[in-house]
Amino acid sequence: MKEFAYHRATQVSEALQLTAQGDDVRFLGGGTNLVDLMKNGVESPSRLVDIRFLPLAGISETEHGALLLGATTTNSDIAAHPNVRRRYPALSQAILAGASGQLRNMATAGGNLLQRTRCAYFADPTEPCNKRAPGSGCPALAGAHHNHAILDWSESCVATHPSDMAVALAAFDAEVRYETLDGSGYLPLTHLYRPVGVTPHEETALPEHALITGIALPSVATSLRSSYRKVRERASYAFASVSVAAALDMRAGQIHDVRIALGGVAARPWRAGVAEDLLRGAIATPERFRSAAATELSAARPLRDNAYKVVLAQNLIEVVLTELAAAGQP
Ligand code: SF4
Repeated sequence: MKEFAYHRATQVSEALQLTAQGDDVRFLGGGTNLVDLMKNGVESPSRLVDIRFLPLAGISETEHGALLLGATTTNSDIAAHPNVRRRYPALSQAILAGASGQLRNMATAGGNLLQRTRCAYFADPTEPCNKRAPGSGCPALAGAHHNHAILDWSESCVATHPSDMAVALAAFDAEVRYETLDGSGYLPLTHLYRPVGVTPHEETALPEHALITGIALPSVATSLRSSYRKVRERASYAFASVSVAAALDMRAGQIHDVRIALGGVAARPWRAGVAEDLLRGAIATPERFRSAAATELSAARPLRDNAYKVVLAQNLIEVVLTELAAAGQP
């Protein structure tokens, strides 16, 4: 591993100033992804700015009923929080479906959103990879891509985003809050990740050197039920082949509100807006759920070895919404 400087920041302004001093300076949260990438040479920062001692940990509620997750709150603390479990169960389930207990105890909310793809070519510096070395090519297109994207990919990159938590946050219309030396701002979670295009190395829409300070979860109706379901290649400690975060609010036998987000299918959490539009106001039936899911997935462009994800995503949407509808009946 290349030598690097280490700074422990105690104020947000200090962390921002330290990070603005070079393009190869990185924030260090739990380190559960970054340190691995440093060990295998994918990342080689000259300086790490440790942000775990900033006053950014904790979960609070605003006067409007939104829940604020501090950026350095651990994944374990978010998953276990009573308000998260009661109001946003899909978020708690998504976090618990990811990684191991030890990793969740270290990993932070902000770091979870900014973790890098687990494409094997990206993690191997001896291979070309447009995301790691722009312009070098994408061997996954013709190579091992059975776990890669089916939606919204480009000839430059077909990687997926690995976060489970981000999928649930997308379904709940979460906002990402950040600070820079020029001030603060926010992005809807669904706008945090850039379209892949020809610049897959430019992954987020955050301003340069921005620090994520928190995530805001808007208030939801008490009648909104939600669930997260993840299909993976082994029973634990694996990234999603396909996952779905879904929420359903049934009123007088009709779908009043529905949220669907997919993981494992694109370079960002995929909010299934087409299916949601078809379902809002409709009577809930498995046939309707199946039809809406099929319409949403008609945009998929599977690669040679991952067409199974199209069927998997359709089935997951139908099953999870059918279960939520049954649970919401009086
Ligand atoms: Fe790199 Fe993306 Fe291609 Fe994987 S899919 S090799 S991350 S460019």
